[in-house]
Amino acid sequence: MHFNFPRTLGQEDAKKRLSAALASGRFPHALLVHGEPGLGQLALLLDLAQILSCEDTATKPCGTCFPCRAFDASALETLHHLIPIVKNDRNSGSDDDEEAGPESGQIDELNESISLWHRHPYGYHVSEKAMVRTSQARELLGRLRFAENEGRVRVVVLPWLESLNDNSATILLKTLEEPPANVYFLIASDHRSGLMQTLLSRCLHLGLSPLSASDFRVAAETLSQRAQKPFAARLLPFAEGSPGLYVELLENDGEELLEEALRFLSATSDWRVFADYAAETSPGAEGMERTTRLLLFLLRMVRAYQLLKATTPANAGTRIDTAEALEQAGWDDSLAAYLGAIDAVADLQAFAAFLESAHRAVREYSKPSIALVGLFLEYEGKANRSVPA
Ligand SMILES: [Zn+2]
Repeated sequence: MHFNFPRTLGQEDAKKRLSAALASGRFPHALLVHGEPGLGQLALLLDLAQILSCEDTATKPCGTCFPCRAFDASALETLHHLIPIVKNDRNSGSDDDEEAGPESGQIDELNESISLWHRHPYGYHVSEKAMVRTSQARELLGRLRFAENEGRVRVVVLPWLESLNDNSATILLKTLEEPPANVYFLIASDHRSGLMQTLLSRCLHLGLSPLSASDFRVAAETLSQRAQKPFAARLLPFAEGSPGLYVELLENDGEELLEEALRFLSATSDWRVFADYAAETSPGAEGMERTTRLLLFLLRMVRAYQLLKATTPANAGTRIDTAEALEQAGWDDSLAAYLGAIDAVADLQAFAAFLESAHRAVREYSKPSIALVGLFLEYEGKANRSVPA
């Protein structure tokens, strides 16, 4: 028996382990695939769902049996999606309306979300505000129990375990404690630590790692083609081996962020420039979104720079010749100017700490621009102290 994972890029170790479990006939009835967002959890869930549903006896998925064709047409009745939806404002009075099923607008949202996931598993995101309602979990459980004696394999996919509210998590837990026959639960998660321990203990865990440099390049090329965009070699070092992150940068504003980061780094010698920046971009949610993205991108630049430095042993401890190091690392040499600007930061540790607190401040404070300027002054003070005059 041979198993294919047509949607999942890289992750050869995970595929090997899963193939062995599938071949042994002891595939877990609840699998939790976890890792940083964008590593391929959502592609892997779909591949596994199709493999488990396929009826071919030599190669799964075969692409031609009835379940495979239904799967490809997003019409497989034995595949159930537990998709988080953004709650309707009209229901905001009660935290979780147990009786009401999804309203028509939400059914559209569900269908659209499912379709996007299937078409574009690396570009699919669940909003942080979305959740799986109690009624959805209850209805699904009812359907699973109802068709229990038909003997057909059924698969439940849940793209983001964190989106279960307390009630739906309890329902899922009870279901996993006494699982219906022939049902597989395939679940993805990116922040396991905050989750219900009893629920986690019912699942077999499979962790995904960032892709190796060569796998990642191949994945990025494939995803660029699928997105019908030119391959962006300059963005690779900042996507940290995560195909989903690469797609996100490629499809949004990766190149612009790179330029903006350079402007920002050139300006950090004078905190007033930063204050102006914060004042300019702060009004409204859109400006803050932009600032958040820039801060995150700068953090990734710092990490890329540190990685470059660590993998260029001849230069350890001293300033690095960025162009030469880039060439050795196989990264685009036009990044020399950008990573060179990081090279010029006096106290990189203090700068990284500043970026992290600033990123938090932008998300959590009601007046983030004031908090940002305060944080920046604090950073400047530290950086100045640590540099010999
Ligand atoms: Zn098949």
